[in-house]
Amino acid sequence: MSERYAVFGNPIGHSKSPLIHAAFARQCGAEISYEARLAPLDGFAGGVREFIAAGGRGANVTLPFKEQAFRLADQRTPRAELAAAVNTLVFADGQILGDNTDGAGLLRDLVDNLGCAIAGRRVLLLGAGGAARGVIAPLLAARPHTLVIANRTIDRAEALVRQFAADDRLRASAYAQLAGTSFDLVVNATSAGLSGALPPLPERVFAAESLAYDMVYGAAAMPFLAFARAQGAARLADGLGMLVEQAAEAFYLWRGVRPASAPVIAMLRATGA
Ligand code: NAP
Repeated sequence: MSERYAVFGNPIGHSKSPLIHAAFARQCGAEISYEARLAPLDGFAGGVREFIAAGGRGANVTLPFKEQAFRLADQRTPRAELAAAVNTLVFADGQILGDNTDGAGLLRDLVDNLGCAIAGRRVLLLGAGGAARGVIAPLLAARPHTLVIANRTIDRAEALVRQFAADDRLRASAYAQLAGTSFDLVVNATSAGLSGALPPLPERVFAAESLAYDMVYGAAAMPFLAFARAQGAARLADGLGMLVEQAAEAFYLWRGVRPASAPVIAMLRATGA
């Protein structure tokens, strides 16, 4: 019988995760089923427990349940603790293990797929929500010169900086205060693009050889990437690679096999999926 996995979210109809995991399974000759499960906004924990009772081995978790998944887990990995959010669950021996693979996914896409050097570079992270928090520790581990977190609500950026108080490469900034400073890597971890909006960036934050990276993909990445292009960013990337890489990390956690991500990214781009 095939092993059962799922992704929980609300909404969930748009999720590419079933397609991605089906492609990983084909590559590895694995017998798995992977389904998208719509959980009611007040019924996430019940939905997960139902899935476990039906034989589920693991699950991905997307908006808006990552914090609830964090609380549901009996045990959490150190990177999930740092992110204060869980996007991957493993069900084994009557226990729920919570992990967060988003940070690893972003770093793999930046470093391995896009060949972006981070050591010694000036990095700007836009946003201070769950996605931003999950990538701070892995970005710092890649030894940037500085990591500035800019957020519309400055208190949230300052709270994140306090969490990593021991690291003096990290600081918070309001958008307006960024004027006059440029960065080698700018990562948009806001959800602004989902409503066609752009974070209020001043001009000239993109250094000459910079990479502009949006965690969202498709049309939602366009406002930020178009602005970055007009402002002279040398390279542009959306978050499709991160999406596939965080899924590959989850697949590895569940099955101990690391699937090749490049053909899956290429397949999604080719089919416009
Ligand atoms: P979240 O917790 O809701 O945080 C949203 C962030 O966006 C906040 O910092 C918010 O600022 C900011 N924001 C929203 N609208 C804005 C606007 N018009 N101007 C400026 N800032 C704005 O969301 P999240 O979980 O961090 O996710 C952020 C995005 O990352 C989502 O779109 C998600 O789809 C994407 N993501 C992608 C991947 C992937 O694998 N590619 C993985 C994880 C997340 P305030 O604090 O001021 O409200």
